[in-house]
Amino acid sequence: MDCIFCKILNGDIPSNKVFENDNFIAILDAFPANEGHTLVIPKKHFANIFEIDEDTLKEGYVIAKNIADAIKKAFNISDINILQNNGELAGQTVNHFHIHVIPRVKDDNVIIKSIPVNIDSDKIKNIVDNIKSNL
Ligand code: AMP
Ligand code: ZN
Repeated sequence: MDCIFCKILNGDIPSNKVFENDNFIAILDAFPANEGHTLVIPKKHFANIFEIDEDTLKEGYVIAKNIADAIKKAFNISDINILQNNGELAGQTVNHFHIHVIPRVKDDNVIIKSIPVNIDSDKIKNIVDNIKSNL
């Protein structure tokens, strides 16, 4: 499969690995948003959050938390984003599930913002019903 993270996992492409266990690796992002930007990647190929099983997902987030704790100490910072993109519109560029751990520093170049949209109260009720009925 033409997947860059599978190639890294196979050892076909080099990476800067900070963690490994039976199910995951964590590597430095090759195009980091900040110093220490790390990706937590399951060894098994799942395209996105819709494909990954719950146990692996849980383990991934625990690892992301541990990496975040380590980054906090390593860089003497306190602010970190944990992000995970699914699909092109959501900014996913590598279709192998991964969790971003992004340390934040004052006046950095990371932009995670949205302009709120107006939604009337009837529509909000529909939205709530729609989501609830699909759970
Ligand atoms: P996403 O946009 O959420 O799919 O994130 C993919 C991330 O993978 C981006 O932040 C890229 O910088 C990163 N990336 C792409 N190729 C490599 C690579 N060979 N090694 C490490 N990180 C990579
Ligand atoms: Zn893959």
